[in-house]
Amino acid sequence: RDVIVLDDAVKHFPLPRRGFRPRERVHSIDGVTLRVRHGEVLGLVGESGSGKSTLARVVLGLTPTTSGRVAVDGVDVGHLSGAERKRLTRTAQLVFQDPHAAMDPRMTIGESLCSVFAQHGIGRKHQRVQAASEALAEVGLDQGYLDRYPAECSGGQLQRVVIARALLLRPKLLICDEPTSALDASVQARILNLLHRLRRDHQLTMVMISHDLRVVRFIGDRIAVMYLGQIVEIADRDVLFERSCHPYTLTLLASAGACAQAPPEVTATGEPPSPIHPPSGCRFHPRCPLATERCRSEVPQPQEIAPGHQVRCHHWNEARITLATEESR
Ligand code: SF4
Ligand code: MG
Repeated sequence: RDVIVLDDAVKHFPLPRRGFRPRERVHSIDGVTLRVRHGEVLGLVGESGSGKSTLARVVLGLTPTTSGRVAVDGVDVGHLSGAERKRLTRTAQLVFQDPHAAMDPRMTIGESLCSVFAQHGIGRKHQRVQAASEALAEVGLDQGYLDRYPAECSGGQLQRVVIARALLLRPKLLICDEPTSALDASVQARILNLLHRLRRDHQLTMVMISHDLRVVRFIGDRIAVMYLGQIVEIADRDVLFERSCHPYTLTLLASAGACAQAPPEVTATGEPPSPIHPPSGCRFHPRCPLATERCRSEVPQPQEIAPGHQVRCHHWNEARITLATEESR
């Protein structure tokens, strides 16, 4: 059973009028079709501004789509009522980059965790405290943390708290949006290991959003690559890392390999074009080494080139050979 279903999901943000012509819109995600299976971890990778966070918000019903269908665990989340949204928070939870922003600084960690149960009318006070303390133990924090304030915790400790809180209602789906980007490298690795273990213990379905290829490679069963609001390639992890066929993905992999010392952040040559006026035809054409006249005029549609391996490129067949050869020269 699919936990996430997106069919041709589109989200445009209208721009403020001043300084712009009235009808301009930012195309934040544009035509995303995607399935995430129960128990699977999908790694979603792309540059900042590629629409990864918007995709997360659309899936969680935090922002309505402009068009297309979005369903989580069989429930249409396009336009939820208040009660339906509350039910969705029991099914799906979000962990994002800054744990300090996620916690109320005036509440102790124990109060924050217990308030989740209170909002959903679950348990009596002592049961809530007991469950909160067990949740902390599960993320490697002792019960002394119940009485601490967020300001008394490090970023890594607080991210553990945020993860514990996200799992309190036993959700099926956890969306992690750059959960380790603000942390030191050694802390990052420990948080990723924790998520990996929790995913297994709870049979969680997870979407791991990152600009860092190492993160999605570590935890993802499948990897989707986003570029300017579209998924340009999706495949099982090993297929993506070994047999990618999209010029953008190949560029990312090459630049990650070329600078093994530096964090392999996702970048291609040149500035990403504006999402307000995405390029005609293939959106990657101004930066693509293989672009032809056809790429400038005709939008490439997703093609299944092998079971489970989809690519949006007119020249995927040549891309691997050409770009891989250049790399080994
Ligand atoms: Fe490059 Fe053309 Fe493929 Fe786009 S469609 S990625 S421009 S080769
Ligand atoms: Mg983001």
